[in-house]
Amino acid sequence: MKAVVYKGPREVAVEEVPEPEIEHPNDIVIDITTTCICGSDLHMYEGRTAAEEGLVFGHENMGIVSEVGDAVSTLEEGDRVVLPFNVSCGFCQNCENGYTGFCTNVNPGFAGGAYGYVAMGPYQGGQAEKLRVPYADHNALKLPPGDEHEDSFSLLADIFPTGWHGTRLANLRPGESIVVFGAGPVGLMSAYSAKLQGASEIYVVDRVPSRLELAEDHCDATPINFDEGDPVEQVIDEHGGEVDKGVDAVGYQALDPEETDKGDDYAYDPAKENPAVVINSLIRAVRPTGELGIPGLYVPEDPGAPDDMAAQGRLGIDFGKLFEKGQALGTGQCNVKSYNRELRDMIIEGRADPSWVVSHRVSLDEAPEMYERFDNREDEDEAITKVLLEP
Ligand code: NAD
Ligand code: ZN
Repeated sequence: MKAVVYKGPREVAVEEVPEPEIEHPNDIVIDITTTCICGSDLHMYEGRTAAEEGLVFGHENMGIVSEVGDAVSTLEEGDRVVLPFNVSCGFCQNCENGYTGFCTNVNPGFAGGAYGYVAMGPYQGGQAEKLRVPYADHNALKLPPGDEHEDSFSLLADIFPTGWHGTRLANLRPGESIVVFGAGPVGLMSAYSAKLQGASEIYVVDRVPSRLELAEDHCDATPINFDEGDPVEQVIDEHGGEVDKGVDAVGYQALDPEETDKGDDYAYDPAKENPAVVINSLIRAVRPTGELGIPGLYVPEDPGAPDDMAAQGRLGIDFGKLFEKGQALGTGQCNVKSYNRELRDMIIEGRADPSWVVSHRVSLDEAPEMYERFDNREDEDEAITKVLLEP
């Protein structure tokens, strides 16, 4: 079958790979109908990780069940399902408590598993024609048959629940104000979730105009462009003070506003990055005793990694300011299963429609070109926010 295979920094190819098979009676195999490219894939694509050549990417997967293991009891051939990006067992202590992003059985030695992701276990990705799904009764979320809401449902694998998770980590309550750093797919879904949850004021910080426009148009957010000055001062000026809550939807590849080339030439350059800048900005922008949600991805310090990667986990965070302000923060992978059923039902009932974040739906063969374009975040003023692949 065809699959998107990692070849090395900034290079993926569509190649023939072996088809997945049932390996355990709890498994199913699905025919992929939609699989998305994620900002998290870009960490591997940009060569920031120890991802090895040959890895099949893809953790945001949905499709139709084509094979069913003997011990699977709730799924049958032909069912339409979406899979959380987390691979989880359903019966460890964390899974029992809803923390499926931190399953202790699927990936010993690391907190949590995922499809097609470096360090997240031996699970092949779904940017391919087929995917094996372990612990299928637990992991697969059934969808209404047909092809209605295909775009919105595909976002249930990751970014809609992850955006929602950002607001829950910050314990957002109706009527509160919130600032979201990052207007990528995750930040846009956080701002949209804040709107659905009744936030009073929503501020979204980025520097990519087409992304800020989406935040304004679909989340009723006030856009804050950090190329136009300190984003924290801008938020405090607009709001008339610090906001109640904050979300970091950027992660460790944060551009340093001080160092950013203000020209149109938009490309990631490690020399212009400062992984602590967003968390420190949130500490400043949020009021004393406010809460911060950090779904943006950070990586552990790794003494065994090449020099430029080893210290990525060591951040210069102003912990003293956080302490002075008595702020709480929540971090980590999204526990997709704790949100995806309710978010699915909101989509079915017409109370949520996150499909506006999708900018492109293309064939699997176009993946190499779309990785390159998504990595630029926009090109020639065209928004490239969320790319869906259709094998
Ligand atoms: P993305 O790279 O498309 O979006 C990040 C955005 O942040 C970009 O638009 C960029 O312009 C902006 N940005 C860069 N520096 C900034 C700064 N200093 N201030 C404000 N904005 C800044 O990625 P995405 O798909 O939206 O994902 C965002 C983050 O969430 C990534 O780190 C990704 O790995 C992570 N993620 C986490 C989970 C989880 O479960 N916790 C799931 C999915 C993605
Ligand atoms: Zn993702």
